[in-house]
Amino acid sequence: MRSWLLCVILLIWSNSLFSWGFKPHRIINKHAVLLLPTPLFDFFKKHIEYISSHSTEPDQRRYIDSNEAPKHYIDIEFFIGIDSIPIFYKAANSKWGEDLLNNHGSVPWTVYFTIHKLKTAFIEQNAELILKHSAELGHYVADLHVPLHTTKNYNGQLTNQHGIHKLWETEVAELYHEYPFLPNEISYLENPMDSIWKWMWESHNQVNNVMECEIKCRKNEGFIITKSYHQNQKGLMSIKNTVNFIKDYENCLRLKVYKRMEESIQHVASCIYTSWILAGQPTLPNSEEISELPIRRINESINFHEHGSCHH
Ligand SMILES: [Zn+2]
Repeated sequence: MRSWLLCVILLIWSNSLFSWGFKPHRIINKHAVLLLPTPLFDFFKKHIEYISSHSTEPDQRRYIDSNEAPKHYIDIEFFIGIDSIPIFYKAANSKWGEDLLNNHGSVPWTVYFTIHKLKTAFIEQNAELILKHSAELGHYVADLHVPLHTTKNYNGQLTNQHGIHKLWETEVAELYHEYPFLPNEISYLENPMDSIWKWMWESHNQVNNVMECEIKCRKNEGFIITKSYHQNQKGLMSIKNTVNFIKDYENCLRLKVYKRMEESIQHVASCIYTSWILAGQPTLPNSEEISELPIRRINESINFHEHGSCHH
């Protein structure tokens, strides 16, 4: 019985290691649509709910596709010091091989490949694929903006700070779900791969601050309990930080999570716009074709509790 309970707790805990929480992903994709210029905006506004709800599909796919997991992160420390990092996948692959890239993550290259998949969908004027790749591009770009997706110490497991992943990208991020976002204007990315690596390093440069604030806030709390068990509507148990602790941590970070969400919004929109420019600014599929699209809602997608396993 105890091992079953432990398994359930670990399963729920491992779900939180995948990326921004579901809610922040949806917020980022939805706001990215609002930044798009015409005619892209005219096309995407009709499907803003699709782009938002499908933002979490890559995380759900991890349960049925073993190739999916490395696409969401990069443990950059494994690549530092081995020499300089080739920014393009082909060069990185010939230098380190597919196994090493699969073990230590490939999110920068996944973003780049998805930009090109979207470009092809625009060229083919395939409404369904335009929406699918846009929603998934939003997911991968947002993941790249999470500092803990760029480090081997992704959940504080090397520094006895277990659970910091969920704290940063879900518990703090969800504090902002009704905040106004005012991202900077979008731009065409002259060299998408350079931009992608720049965003990766911006994320990674925040890792120390992310860890230090957590240590500082736990110390400040002294003997006050900062975590508690919760039971959801399905009776499953999970461990959560207390609201006071989450707010203290957010205060220490000085809106860095909020700013990272804002930058994600700007960069998701810039990537969609760049894909369309690279495609030659084709006419977008007409409304008639779009209305025939099967719009699958998130609650009709894979039930991740049924497909999960008890390891990360
Ligand atoms: Zn993810």
